[in-house]
Amino acid sequence: METKTSSSNFIKNIVAEDLSSGKVKEVITRFPPEPNGYLHIGHAKSICLNFELADEFKGKTNLRFDDTNPVKEDVEYVESIKQDVQWLGFEWDGLFFASDYFGEMYERALLLIRKGLAYVDDQTADQIRETRGTLTAPGQESPYRNRTVEENLDLFGRMKDGEFADGQKVLRAKIDMASPNVNLRDPILYRVVHAFHHNTGDKWCIYPMYAFAHPLEDAIEGVTHSICTLEFEDQRPFYDWVIRESEMKWVPRQYEFARLNLTNTVMSKRKLKQLVDEKAVDGWDDPRMPTISGLRRKGYTPEAIRAFCREIGVAKSYGIVDERMLEHFIREDLKLKALRTMAVLQPLKVVITNYPEGQVEWLDAENNSENPDMGHRQIPFSREIYIERDDFMDNPPPKYFRLFPGNEVRLKHAYFIKCEEVVLDSEGNVVELRCTYDPETKSGSGFAGRKVKGTIHWVEATHAVPAQFRLYEPLITDEEEEEGQSFLDHLNPNSLETLEGFVEQGMKESVGGDKYQFFRHGYFNVDPKDSTAGHPVFNRIVSLKSSFTV
Ligand code: ATP
Ligand code: MG
Repeated sequence: METKTSSSNFIKNIVAEDLSSGKVKEVITRFPPEPNGYLHIGHAKSICLNFELADEFKGKTNLRFDDTNPVKEDVEYVESIKQDVQWLGFEWDGLFFASDYFGEMYERALLLIRKGLAYVDDQTADQIRETRGTLTAPGQESPYRNRTVEENLDLFGRMKDGEFADGQKVLRAKIDMASPNVNLRDPILYRVVHAFHHNTGDKWCIYPMYAFAHPLEDAIEGVTHSICTLEFEDQRPFYDWVIRESEMKWVPRQYEFARLNLTNTVMSKRKLKQLVDEKAVDGWDDPRMPTISGLRRKGYTPEAIRAFCREIGVAKSYGIVDERMLEHFIREDLKLKALRTMAVLQPLKVVITNYPEGQVEWLDAENNSENPDMGHRQIPFSREIYIERDDFMDNPPPKYFRLFPGNEVRLKHAYFIKCEEVVLDSEGNVVELRCTYDPETKSGSGFAGRKVKGTIHWVEATHAVPAQFRLYEPLITDEEEEEGQSFLDHLNPNSLETLEGFVEQGMKESVGGDKYQFFRHGYFNVDPKDSTAGHPVFNRIVSLKSSFTV
């Protein structure tokens, strides 16, 4: 587990050195998502890294959409990505699309053909894969590898003009089919795809491959430090080849860091999209999703996510971060900010038989016991209240200090009450408790007559606001996928629990995004989509305690 703070992040050291040696004058980074899905917490790591690095050295960061695959991409994703980056608190300098550079990329491909470094191949995708060789055996050269420059120029022009069907021809780099690095065995540069592109429409029917396009994009934008995840380490020689042979004026450098993995968390856009498409979740922003929009809807703050990303640092090796670490940071962020109130998730009615009928008194309650600046509020108290169903037991085990017949507990911010009678329905279920209260024991009165061991929370019945509570568990747990199974077979059937209960009257006007700490239940966020006037919906962000320490 990567738990150590890595303030000496290795990429930062490289940047500092490049600036002091004069190798670069200004650091330029980029965050380059493919708009084929919503961003997830792993992307947040890359966003924080790129933007914070440039900020620290007074440089620039571009947001660039790597939109070279029109079949999978969509403007909906472009818009959501922009929103998420801004919500995290970052402002990009340039906003670019790989598709802005299709003209230039085409020119660079022509240059490679003219230099004898690229050729049109008629083999099928399968044939190309099969002749690539393996880690131990070299690949075989294509029968089309030695076409003349003229023939290649002619065929590539006709690919562009739409004469060929998808898959009928590709443009390949001519490097070395025996290279020990498989990525250098004549990788594909361009393919034919007859598809509508969200930016360029029907202008193109050939599209550059990511590995060819990416270095060109970096060079065109003058990116100094092109930071990507470790899987791309073996691509670096080809990255450098593209820059060199395409004769790009600016030479960017690629650096790799370990991608973020979290326990019990699916982190691949492809799989997340499957969950959405199969309706296993309620859209990309379902609070159970590890997407930025899901975390936002669940109640995470940008501050908590940024603090988490800073803490996990930039390791050069793979590791799995405990999801509880992310939870730790939202607790830390909300501890002193959130109003601490009472909510009853599974209500049980309590009648206080010796409290005058029709009387309501207003009791003083602190808004946040750890932050006096948040002040106080008044909460109503009367003859009827709701308590939590599991704060009562008919036959309690030893050391149960909450309510049971004959026992006395403290009501938070109010009085001691004693359980005198249990009302059952015809099936023997507890439907109501009849208690007495002691007026001497009012909270804040300094009463020292006797002590009780349990304190429970409650909501006054006549002012209570009905509310829904949504409690979450991981969507998927970290079990090994067996042969022939999909990760969808490991969906946790209990990932969402919905309860109907009550909150204090002061929360009636809550709006989406308001955050509270509910006594004993944890931190909750008002759901921005499903809450209605008079019936707020609360998503549990995180419970109060964890065994985890950073
Ligand atoms: P996925 O596999 O989830 O689809 P991706 O890498 O294909 O992710 P891109 O849109 O290509 O998604 O990623 C944009 C940037 O975010 C890339 O620079 C990529 O390296 C980075 N990134 C993606 N996933 C992670 C992760 N789990 N941890 C850190 N960085 C990530
Ligand atoms: Mg990708």
